Amino acid sequence: MSWEDNVRRVTPYVPGEQPRDGKKVIKLNTNEMPYPPSPRVKEALASFDYEKLRLYPAPDVAPLRDALAKREGVASDEMFVGVGSDDVLSMAFLTFFNSDKPVIFPDITYSFYDVWADVYRIPYETKALDDDFHIVKSDYMCENGGIVIANPNAPTGVSEAEDVDFIEDIVASNPASVVIVDEAYVDFGGVTALPLIRKYDNVLVVRTFSKSRAFAGMRIGYAMGNSKLIRFLNDVKYSVNSYTMNRPAIELGLAALSDEDYFRKTVAAVVRTREWTKEELKNRSFDVTDSKTNFVFASPKSAGCEAGDLFKALKEKGIYVRWWDKPRIKKWLRISIGTDDEMQALISAIDDILHN
Ligand SMILES: *Cc1c(COP(=O)(O)O)cnc(C)c1O
Repeated sequence: MSWEDNVRRVTPYVPGEQPRDGKKVIKLNTNEMPYPPSPRVKEALASFDYEKLRLYPAPDVAPLRDALAKREGVASDEMFVGVGSDDVLSMAFLTFFNSDKPVIFPDITYSFYDVWADVYRIPYETKALDDDFHIVKSDYMCENGGIVIANPNAPTGVSEAEDVDFIEDIVASNPASVVIVDEAYVDFGGVTALPLIRKYDNVLVVRTFSKSRAFAGMRIGYAMGNSKLIRFLNDVKYSVNSYTMNRPAIELGLAALSDEDYFRKTVAAVVRTREWTKEELKNRSFDVTDSKTNFVFASPKSAGCEAGDLFKALKEKGIYVRWWDKPRIKKWLRISIGTDDEMQALISAIDDILHN
């Protein structure tokens, strides 16, 4: 017998590579915003009173929670704030997926879901997306212990439906399960399920500041749902760590939230660059999904190139994108949207690689 027999063994999630500070690369591999956060964040950071770090932060994150609730048009007791949406999602798994029946989610989706299921010993089953990477709705009309859907999905970029009916049907058919809708990318053109929280008490909508608000380094995520759901979520949070949100995060989050103009402008810029990038790739015979996110999902197969080879060749040129050696998606690359200059450089590099 060894202590190792008692270890909770898990295979961890593998994040995209973060090059060491100072190394000059074009980093299109973790869906970060190419623009900095609002200038108001810079001011708030400069005027932050370091002496306050002596004091614990607000355990209920009240200033940021209430401002966010106001911005989203929900009540404060329908809002939960956490350390990035990874923290919020993991808390939600721990809170709501406590059944012997399997939690269900797509076979191709955010690769953290199966990791959380494993670490918390939650049974799960994946449901295959169709050939166009869309969810097959009827797959989610079975007995289950919970449902997770990323909409728009990652890494495909695909968004379900032009209206909220698609998600609503799944929520309405599963009154005995909590349905988590991960809307990490919704600001770039998806359709939100938020209105459903007024009609159903079993849907939790999760968002993040990491992508559209250029705050990946600050770690702010949030969830919205019926006040009873939020209360259960808080019960678990207060049983793990009461002070999840630090003081700078709360103050800088408020500053970011106050600048709606800047938010809209930078998101619109990314969407324009995304559409340009899709066209350029299509002109080079790439297959490209209709991404509604801040990345494109593209296959160079018809352009006569293997995705894995292109991934390596781009890396040699100092351009980092993401490639997974997994059966259904190994022909595809996920490329985050950078600045216009960065995307021009990407396209030129692709032209070089394809013609050599
Ligand atoms: C990026 C991402 C998240 C997590 O982002 P945080 O930085 O933890 O807020 C969650 N879900 C999806 C689908 C993502 O792509």
